[in-house]
Amino acid sequence: MHPSGANATTGADHAVVIGASLAGLTIAQALRPRFAAVTVLDRDRLPDQAVPRPGVPQDRHVHLLLASGAIWFEQLFPGLLEELIADGAAVGDPSRIRLCLNGHRLARGPAGDTAVFASRPFIEHHVRRRIRADPGIAVEDGCTVRGLTTSDDGRRIVGVRTTSTSVGGVTGGSAGGDGGTSADEQHLPADLVVDASGRRSSSPAWLETLGYAPPPIDELPVDLRYLTRQYRIPDEVLGGDRNLLIGPTPDLPLGGALSKIEGDRWITTLFAMGGRRPPRDPDRFEAFAAELAASDIHDALVAGEPLDEPARYRFPANQRRRYDRCRLPHGFLAAGDAVCSFNPIYGQGMSVAAHQAVALRSLLADGMAPTPEAWFAAIQPMLDLAWELTCSGDLAVHAIEGRRDLMTRVRNGYLARLHAAASRDPALTDRFLRVAGLVDPPSTLLRPSALGRVLTHRLRSVPA
Ligand SMILES: Cc1cc2nc3c(=O)[nH]c(=O)nc-3n(C[C@H](O)[C@H](O)[C@H](O)COP(=O)(O)OP(=O)(O)OC[C@H]3O[C@@H](n4cnc5c(N)ncnc54)[C@H](O)[C@@H]3O)c2cc1C
Repeated sequence: MHPSGANATTGADHAVVIGASLAGLTIAQALRPRFAAVTVLDRDRLPDQAVPRPGVPQDRHVHLLLASGAIWFEQLFPGLLEELIADGAAVGDPSRIRLCLNGHRLARGPAGDTAVFASRPFIEHHVRRRIRADPGIAVEDGCTVRGLTTSDDGRRIVGVRTTSTSVGGVTGGSAGGDGGTSADEQHLPADLVVDASGRRSSSPAWLETLGYAPPPIDELPVDLRYLTRQYRIPDEVLGGDRNLLIGPTPDLPLGGALSKIEGDRWITTLFAMGGRRPPRDPDRFEAFAAELAASDIHDALVAGEPLDEPARYRFPANQRRRYDRCRLPHGFLAAGDAVCSFNPIYGQGMSVAAHQAVALRSLLADGMAPTPEAWFAAIQPMLDLAWELTCSGDLAVHAIEGRRDLMTRVRNGYLARLHAAASRDPALTDRFLRVAGLVDPPSTLLRPSALGRVLTHRLRSVPA
């Protein structure tokens, strides 16, 4: 029996979410008002504390929650931001962020929109705590989904097949659409199944075994390597600043971030793209920071004290599963990284996931669960926007291989000029941050007021 008292074994008015990470938890929250019972399944044993876990291997690395994401999380979980801040998360006011982009040190933006800086386990822990407190949502951990089940005519998903993780292994996942059954396999019926199982989702394989063509995949390889470490750094070293972001330049595919997070700690991620490799030797960590386009992160690290060994992560490619171009069974949706995972240096994944949950909540307002077509059409504009920002940003780096059409070259040329102009113009920094934070559309950077400022700066810098 579901904790809500609803009978989840019949599947009537029951929604199942695969994956209890940030996409799964926010989607569960959006489903809650419409379904009598919502069950979130995760193969991991979920901790009661804000600690890393194996099913989310990226959770040791810097996770920035964009200004837009902060707004969407707050819409889903009123009061969450206050809780995060009260427990030690930092709010990244643009006037306290040091930004070096395209090799230009940007003038500080005016105080305003806020991004949230905290460790990834900390953010997930707070959201999970909210979900667990809701009797209408059951979170079943240690439960691996092995496949989807359909109605007799194959046109509707009516549930999932699961095994307890002790049988399949914590990180084993499902051999996509595994035909076999194991002794402890269970069938969990559902009116609606939402896949939020992340980038390595097995849904394409599961759907294929049910006779549905897997979604085509858009991909831009970036061969990104992350290297992350936590530090203790005296506050005065950064002069009161709490966040430093140093981006790659067209010729230098390296960058990094340093943020103050809960527990009076600093987390720094250094990265290399397009075939460059960060060093393996922990003793070379700080020396690697000195290779970035600005020395600020390096200077702060050498004044601090490392608290752990560097953690690594490899992100091969931006990846978008084009479910919007597929025939799909009713009763199936997908969200979060299972649909699209973006180069993490732009910090979009959690915010886009929360945006999808907000979108789902409004689609459910009329009482009907959306068809797959309606769902993937509804989330497409935001995916298009985030995908375009990411891919064109990546293609500004020469080491990234990919087609640079005229639009991409013009956009990147303009952005380089805008960053140069923003080195003297806080209003431009502000505009840029609003676009990068998914608050405003990129078209705002082309408004006459912005174009005029970029052009004036350009004319002033041309030697007489
Ligand atoms: C290195 C790195 C850094 C990042 N930095 C940022 C950042 O700064 N800002 C930002 O917004 N985003 C960032 N992201 C993206 C962010 O981590 C994700 O977008 C976010 O976690 C949402 O992902 P998700 O919930 O869709 O999937 P995931 O977080 O990958 O979670 C998938 C969940 O599904 C579970 N699962 C998988 N298979 C099964 C199964 N068969 N049965 C049951 N459970 C299953 C897993 O255990 C896991 O809990 C970063 C990503 C990476 C890789």
